[in-house]
Amino acid sequence: MARLFFDIYSCVHTYYKPSSCSRCTDVCPIDGVISLENDKIQLNSDNCVSCGACVGICPTESFSLNGFDPKEFFDNFCDRKWDFVSCKLNVPCLASIDSQYLISLALKREEDIVLDMGHCDSCFIGKLKSRITEAVQEANYVLGKLEVPYEIKLENISYKPEKKEEPSRRSFLKKFTKTTASLAFWAVSPNLPINEQDQEIEQAPKNIVEEKVNPTKRKVLLDTLKEKQLDLKDKYVEVDKITFSSQKWIEWEKCTNCFICYNICPTGALDGGQDRLEILFKPSLCIKCRICHEVCPEQCLHLEEKLNLEDFVYKTKSLIQHVMIPCAECMVPFSYKNDGEYICPRCKKLDEEVKELLGL
Ligand code: SF4
Ligand code: SF4
Ligand code: SF4
Repeated sequence: MARLFFDIYSCVHTYYKPSSCSRCTDVCPIDGVISLENDKIQLNSDNCVSCGACVGICPTESFSLNGFDPKEFFDNFCDRKWDFVSCKLNVPCLASIDSQYLISLALKREEDIVLDMGHCDSCFIGKLKSRITEAVQEANYVLGKLEVPYEIKLENISYKPEKKEEPSRRSFLKKFTKTTASLAFWAVSPNLPINEQDQEIEQAPKNIVEEKVNPTKRKVLLDTLKEKQLDLKDKYVEVDKITFSSQKWIEWEKCTNCFICYNICPTGALDGGQDRLEILFKPSLCIKCRICHEVCPEQCLHLEEKLNLEDFVYKTKSLIQHVMIPCAECMVPFSYKNDGEYICPRCKKLDEEVKELLGL
């Protein structure tokens, strides 16, 4: 029975086929388990080792592991069920925990969070150490910018499960693949059947245009930042140093208010406002999937260098405001640019093409 599930309707390739997102294929340590074929993510779970690296890294939480819920782990850790995070204790692999959860854990517990790296060098998977380190660096970068006195620490605890857990581990391993043999987490995790939610996902496709997805890890981070009431006013992060959000600006002269960017945005971070005369942006909802930049026909949507953390949590930015007037030729409304031009770009282009054709 497969433990890993993929919800194709949450993947950004379903919103925009040529999306450049390949985070899951890049992170998966086993060749051929996750692949990108014809602009579609394909999952072949036969050789999957259930490490959950894809669960951790996917911005839209398209992957889930039966028997491991990152939010449940987060809640238990906040309730001080454990003192450290280990692949032999409470997670399938340290790579299954995203930087947003790591930041939230340190803020919630108001102390250093220790990750047990003692098994990484001997782990047969072998390739996930860099992913774990990157997530920790990102979390510590943000925690540093928040000016809190705690961080995520990597230590070689080399925790070993108590002996009484061994029998269930052995019986579990017989049932599942040979390759999960070093993942002691699964030995102590309940052997759950495929849950109803997974079945529903297979049966009922989402309306991907109307249903905007807000990942649980984002809700957790926002709730934690709000609860802690930190002074975020003058705190900034550099946008290219974080993977989970962004800040944007639009070139007013070029934007045609074509609606494409905010119609396609999978989370609702971009929005056309009530009358579709302005484009609004909420960094709190942005997952930095980049598809808005990739679809923009005018290439006029850009990343800001910095993101203010107060804006990230609380603010909506108006990126552009349009004045729409009817085109003097086709009468279709277009965005007027205060330049005395009363013909829409489409008619203008058509005029130019006709002139060129006639050699004028
Ligand atoms: S990481 Fe998630 S959103 Fe990106 S391609 Fe993979 S499944 Fe799709
Ligand atoms: S930013 Fe680009 S995609 Fe969005 S409305 Fe303007 S032109 Fe269209
Ligand atoms: S605004 Fe953010 S979440 Fe929406 S499409 Fe752009 S990068 Fe993706």
